[in-house]
Amino acid sequence: MTTNENKFQQIISHAKEYGFVFQSSEIYDGLSAVYDYGPYGSELKKNIRDYWWKSMTQMNENIVGIDAAIFMHPLTWKASGHVDNFSDPMIDNRDSNKRYRVDHLIEGLADKLKEEGKTQEAESLLAEMDRLLVAEDYAALKELIVTNKIVCATGGTSNWTDVRQFNLMFSTEIGSVAEEADKIYLRPETAQGIFVNFLNVQKTARMKIPFGIAQTGKAFRNEIVARQFIFRMREFEQMEMQFFIRPGTQKEWYEHWKETRLQWHLSLGVPREKYRYHDHVKLAHYADAALDIEYEFPFGFKEVEGIHSRTDFDLKNHQLLSGKKLQYFDNEINQNYIPYVIETSIGLDRMFLLILSESYEEETLTKEDGSTDTRALLRIPAKIAPIKLAILPLTKKDGLPEIARQVMDECKNYFRCFYEEKDTIGKRYRRMDAIGTPFCITIDHQTKEDQTVTIRYRDTMQQERIPVSKVKEIVLNNIM
Ligand code: ATP
Repeated sequence: MTTNENKFQQIISHAKEYGFVFQSSEIYDGLSAVYDYGPYGSELKKNIRDYWWKSMTQMNENIVGIDAAIFMHPLTWKASGHVDNFSDPMIDNRDSNKRYRVDHLIEGLADKLKEEGKTQEAESLLAEMDRLLVAEDYAALKELIVTNKIVCATGGTSNWTDVRQFNLMFSTEIGSVAEEADKIYLRPETAQGIFVNFLNVQKTARMKIPFGIAQTGKAFRNEIVARQFIFRMREFEQMEMQFFIRPGTQKEWYEHWKETRLQWHLSLGVPREKYRYHDHVKLAHYADAALDIEYEFPFGFKEVEGIHSRTDFDLKNHQLLSGKKLQYFDNEINQNYIPYVIETSIGLDRMFLLILSESYEEETLTKEDGSTDTRALLRIPAKIAPIKLAILPLTKKDGLPEIARQVMDECKNYFRCFYEEKDTIGKRYRRMDAIGTPFCITIDHQTKEDQTVTIRYRDTMQQERIPVSKVKEIVLNNIM
């Protein structure tokens, strides 16, 4: 096992042990690729979502939000192309009955070749795969798998079926009587809720092009290869923004959002070298340009966000199937048109995994007597940390808890605090490090004399005395 794989396993265990992520229905042995968020996980997830929401809506006067339903009229998915096109080429292994996405199988081999230093070979394999995917040449894709001797990870054999397309949408029925029930889909992306509300939003919020509509919410995909923890889930959350523009301006807005979104990632303190752009060769059915923003997860560079130039594809098709005009009158140029769209689409769960991957550290500490100790910590940026401040009275007596409670009462309305009086102070600090709490304050006997407390910083473990009256301000300054 490589160190990175170890690190990934450590992150998964840490996420469970400290109440960030649990497997769904764990007492029934779990449900594959479905996860639940625990006390600290749900806080972190909410903070990432809020940070995104604020950066989109509050910071941009021309972007407004909506919250559309998960269920949509079935024609939505016909118009969007998902009924006909939302499928991936798959291949089954006859011996193990395991199904694989063709691109994942081939990318797996390419990663192995790269690890062996055969970069050239890996690159030409990937180039050939891209060429065949674009050409939709499924027979040649199978041939590529066979000639490269790719075997099933479970059974180890190469007894492959032909390559076939497999639709990723979940369906169910709506209606009370079985015969009358209509087939309906669980949305595979949040974007369509924005498109079908385009005119409602434009008119009621009196938006002028260029403008954006943002939305966060659940999406569902019947993913075939569901591994890598919360990286690829069957139920997940997206944070999407559709930016409506004048036709012909898509190139400049595509560049604008490509750069703006990367800056958002960097604003969370992640170094630039951990990111790269990946331009799409095979474009989705709706796009005239597309790229992924990739982050270097412990298992390699992988997509965390997509920037897509979606043309007028969606609005045009909704107009066609609904029979309702979805046009905008641009009084600057005196023209009616169907707007073009640039989309930014990021997975909240993937962003969560990115934050865990980036912030998890197992640090070796050398004590004064020369012996060593380790501490597991999450260096989560203070502005999105689940708990911002831990308030710790040194002892349970002498009036210290009372002072601590006063600080708690003063601060809890402004940010999430955590109160604890059990165990030694060292143990309490370690628990706070493990859940990523950036600041701890300790109330001790000196506090009673001079109204100062010790503040301890998670990342450096440095401690200093500050007036108790300054605590709220210091934390607020660091989380805004
Ligand atoms: P991938 O190639 O990894 O399947 P995609 O290109 O299908 O992703 P998009 O349709 O562009 O993804 O979705 C936008 C974003 O939604 C992705 O960048 C990713 O962060 C997130 N996402 C997509 N599928 C999943 C999933 N199954 N689990 C978690 N997040 C997902």
